[in-house]
Amino acid sequence: MSSTFKSEKKSALNYLNQIKEIVGPENVLIDPERIIDYSHDESTQTEWPRLPEVVVTPTSTQEVASLMKFAFEAEIPVTPRGGGTGLSGGCIPLKGGIVLSLEKMNRILQVDLANQMASVEAGVTLGELIQAAEEAGLAFPPHPGDESAQIGGLIATNAGGSRAVKYGGIRNYVRGLEVVLPSGEILHLGGKIVKSSSGYNLMHLFIGSEGTLGIITQAIIQLLPAPALCRSLVIPYDDLEKAIETVPAIIQAKILPLAIEFMEKDVINITEEYLKKTWPSRIGQTDLLIILEASDEDELDRLSQKVADVCLNRGALDILVADTSSKQQQILEIRSKIYEAIKPVTVEILDIALPRSEISAHVRRVKEIESEVSLWLPTFGHAGDGNVHTHITKVYRQGNQLVQLEESIWKEKAARVKKMIYEDGLSRGGVLSGEHGIGVIKKAEFLQFTETAQLEFMRQIKKIFDPKGILNPGKILD
Ligand SMILES: Cc1cc2nc3c(=O)[nH]c(=O)nc-3n(C[C@H](O)[C@H](O)[C@H](O)COP(=O)(O)OP(=O)(O)OC[C@H]3O[C@@H](n4cnc5c(N)ncnc54)[C@H](O)[C@@H]3O)c2cc1C
Repeated sequence: MSSTFKSEKKSALNYLNQIKEIVGPENVLIDPERIIDYSHDESTQTEWPRLPEVVVTPTSTQEVASLMKFAFEAEIPVTPRGGGTGLSGGCIPLKGGIVLSLEKMNRILQVDLANQMASVEAGVTLGELIQAAEEAGLAFPPHPGDESAQIGGLIATNAGGSRAVKYGGIRNYVRGLEVVLPSGEILHLGGKIVKSSSGYNLMHLFIGSEGTLGIITQAIIQLLPAPALCRSLVIPYDDLEKAIETVPAIIQAKILPLAIEFMEKDVINITEEYLKKTWPSRIGQTDLLIILEASDEDELDRLSQKVADVCLNRGALDILVADTSSKQQQILEIRSKIYEAIKPVTVEILDIALPRSEISAHVRRVKEIESEVSLWLPTFGHAGDGNVHTHITKVYRQGNQLVQLEESIWKEKAARVKKMIYEDGLSRGGVLSGEHGIGVIKKAEFLQFTETAQLEFMRQIKKIFDPKGILNPGKILD
């Protein structure tokens, strides 16, 4: 792997002394063995990772601002990085230059009980925010990503997660942002307020902008009252479509679960084997995992009974209840590690978001493509909010065995399958990414499938904030 940065004049290495002066030598890395960790994220593609020239870990907003002012004048590319858990290649430094990692800006500045909001630096992790909220008797209920993801990264990708069906994505929780622009100017947007009709809402422009418009240095996050009781139901079906078709019926029965996930038994079995843990249901082909939330046990019993009635009427084979916290943890761990378990054979994880009513037909089409092209396409996701994660793999299924294909064959099949799946998803009113972002991995399709006029407005917005194109170049747009 090598840096692709071409121009000697603009190489960050030529400016090492000035960079060290701005952030202190202890916050500058150039050692290849250390900077390699900053060359990739958690996506599976091998063609994108690039080495940065310099990794900088500032400790204050002022340092970020001074560094950006310097990089802007010297025209050095800067790529912001959070926890590196992204799945679209968003934090990969495609043009070399500087990776600006927020890892040392990780202070929880305040948990404000009166306003039920937390003020945090961008490098605080999701796990740390959840813990701080709990310690204050409050909660951060959405679970929008891997727990080592940072608040800045979660906001920059507008992350979603399995609880979006009830609580929405991260956008719904951001009340204020401090952002450093490529020029070094600092903006303070929003605040500890719930409402605002005060001019164009620039804050929401930065949410989901994937580090291409500005660097998020601090955020004010809405918290909610302490969590209610939870119960997980695992509901097996002999057929994937039947399982998914139950989801609108649950919502129509006026039940809004915390999460409704669907997953097929083959990926569950692989993950059980990977983790050496056991999933509660052994029958059927596909399971729904429904997490209910209520203020007391009686309410949980009433909701569980209603869900059971709807599901059993629609072909569910059984209703398995995880009512202790250790059983719930085991189920959630298996669900959250599926990606890790199948990562070695995954070429790309898709992230299509569809109207809920279209998921079943879309997944049926994915299954047809799987058999037409002979490529294993494990598909699971957030049935409650219409976000489907089809995994394009390098293998095909022969009975219970997964058979590896030659590289040239899986590459050709993967490209074909991706096009077919996107065409189907978008024709049903879907979008390319529900929660992972465009980054570099979905850029070609984003440019292909988005209205020209929309792309033009996005390019103009990018130019306003980043006239020299130094911030996260090569992402979302060219
Ligand atoms: C096992 C696993 C499970 C996951 N589950 C989910 C899930 O349920 N839902 C979901 O939505 N995602 C999920 N993800 C994806 C990932 O956790 C999210 O995309 C997350 O938001 C990325 O945050 P990060 O801090 O790791 O960002 P990074 O990967 O470091 O960066 C992501 C993007 O944000 C930009 N960025 C980072 N920090 C800043 C900043 N301070 N200012 C400006 N731009 C910045 C980067 O430039 C890049 O474009 C999962 C990933 C894994 C590996």
